[in-house]
Amino acid sequence: MNDDNRRDDRPKFQGDWKCCDCGAAITELPFEPRDTENLRCFECHKKNRPQRNDKPQRQMYDNNGEGWQCSECGGRIDKLPFDPRDTSTLKCRDCFQK
Ligand SMILES: [Zn+2]
Ligand SMILES: [Zn+2]
Repeated sequence: MNDDNRRDDRPKFQGDWKCCDCGAAITELPFEPRDTENLRCFECHKKNRPQRNDKPQRQMYDNNGEGWQCSECGGRIDKLPFDPRDTSTLKCRDCFQK
């Protein structure tokens, strides 16, 4: 009596494709493939999903674009990996490595 639980709202596209990775037949896709050469079956698609790269991006400070001055050589310091509290002792990378 109740057929409602078979309802699937998402449109499916029928076809006769092949997975470019494992060669498995693909007969149904949740989207209309534009490039049928590079289709992947569901399994390969899962495998090939790009890994999220959670490497934290080091925040760089640039003193609102002003930069700082090196206390040693007077050279300009464009960016620092920290927000310096005491700018009178700042050193550029060159002087810092000396
Ligand atoms: Zn595959
Ligand atoms: Zn310097």
